[in-house]
Amino acid sequence: MILGAAESGVGAALLGKKQGWNVFVSDAGKIREDYKQTLGDSDIAYEEGKHTLDRILAADCVVKSPGIPEKTTLMKKVREAGLEVCSEIEFGFRYKGDSKIIAITGSNGKSTTTALTFHLLKSGGLDAALVGNIGYSFARQIAERPAAWYVIEVSSFQLDDIRHFRPDISVLLNITPDHLDRYDYKFENYIASKFRIAENQTGADYFITNPDDPVIGQYLSTHSIIPRKIFFTMNEHNLRNEDEGAFVGSDDHMHIHYDGEDLNMSIHDLALRGRHNMYNSMAAGISARIAGLRKEKIRESFLTFDGLEHRLEPVATVRGVEFVNDSKATNVNSVWFALESMKQPVVLILGGQDKGNDYNEIMELVREKVKAIVCMGIDNRPIHQAFDGVVADIVDTQSIDAAVHAAYALSEKGDVVLLSPACASFDLFKNYEDRGRQFKEAVRAL
Ligand code: ADP
Repeated sequence: MILGAAESGVGAALLGKKQGWNVFVSDAGKIREDYKQTLGDSDIAYEEGKHTLDRILAADCVVKSPGIPEKTTLMKKVREAGLEVCSEIEFGFRYKGDSKIIAITGSNGKSTTTALTFHLLKSGGLDAALVGNIGYSFARQIAERPAAWYVIEVSSFQLDDIRHFRPDISVLLNITPDHLDRYDYKFENYIASKFRIAENQTGADYFITNPDDPVIGQYLSTHSIIPRKIFFTMNEHNLRNEDEGAFVGSDDHMHIHYDGEDLNMSIHDLALRGRHNMYNSMAAGISARIAGLRKEKIRESFLTFDGLEHRLEPVATVRGVEFVNDSKATNVNSVWFALESMKQPVVLILGGQDKGNDYNEIMELVREKVKAIVCMGIDNRPIHQAFDGVVADIVDTQSIDAAVHAAYALSEKGDVVLLSPACASFDLFKNYEDRGRQFKEAVRAL
């Protein structure tokens, strides 16, 4: 029984069918046309717009999509009935054969690091697949084109329902409060969920993480972790031992030490800009070394990575004003890193659906770098509450065109207009991709 028919559900359905299960897919909402087509083509039965409880409760195994919260009536019934429930990565794990897994999680930077790690592996000549949020789900990739290496982006929701899932290399980038509505509003539950990425790893596996992150540092000092820990940090003294791990030194070079080799390159040669991306680059680089790639190859591939759409993506420069699309920044922490990486005065487009943001986190950077704020959302009150009196110009808009025009009017040559909203997009847009694309269109129209 597959609950939820988006990428992970459809992937699990295809893999289940291939493995000889009697598969049924149930989605309370509408299923996307292309997914329906895929299910139909593979002769997989499904229902949409409802959940037929009797049929669901008769299942031997339930694969639950990450988007379905435990607090739904459906999940309560499923749990009461004592059915086996697993996430799609857990289901995929059963059938991965002897291929290897690099699994990447964290509150921010997952997609970027996953894509970069994949790029390093692939350009290094390994038979690798990029799965998770970008591209196919893990299960679908296994069903349709198995690979020797899977680089998987893993969310905390996926980790909530694992049992045996065991990456050869796991990466935990950072932990800041997010999605607390799904964790009984308890940060410790969310933290525990992130660390589950390492719970089935053995002493032969690797756990790569960032000791600079206060939440991670604290957890590591009070919990023992079985796999081999390898650190990446901005402070060499935080490494566990000097010949294993990655750091950025005061010489502005990224150093990756592993297995007697020292890869070092100037941070100015990295394709991805900004402090957050140094962390992402170190995590990807060390994973690639452990996967067996030579330092020369990794260095070469670092130079050719293009970055991802909607993540500090340069759009255009209009009369000396640069426009940057960071629509994927749906929480305050991402905006912190975006602002941190800006060299010029910033006109910041903020707002959308607020998830209980604490803007204090970016107050200092806003004072230092932001000359004006353009609010873009149905309800802009939280932004005014935080920044009235701090930033001289704050204007309200309720559409992308108005926001882009207002931002352009407030800026002058040498400034940057940064869309980094700190909020979800669902009040005005379909999703963050839609918001980012509309932003780019509006900029180009200028
Ligand atoms: P995720 O997949 O975890 O949502 P992305 O790679 O899509 O992460 O990046 C999301 C946002 O987070 C972007 O706005 C980006 O600028 C910011 N970001 C990327 N890497 C990091 C990091 N290591 N720490 C904090 N913020 C980051």
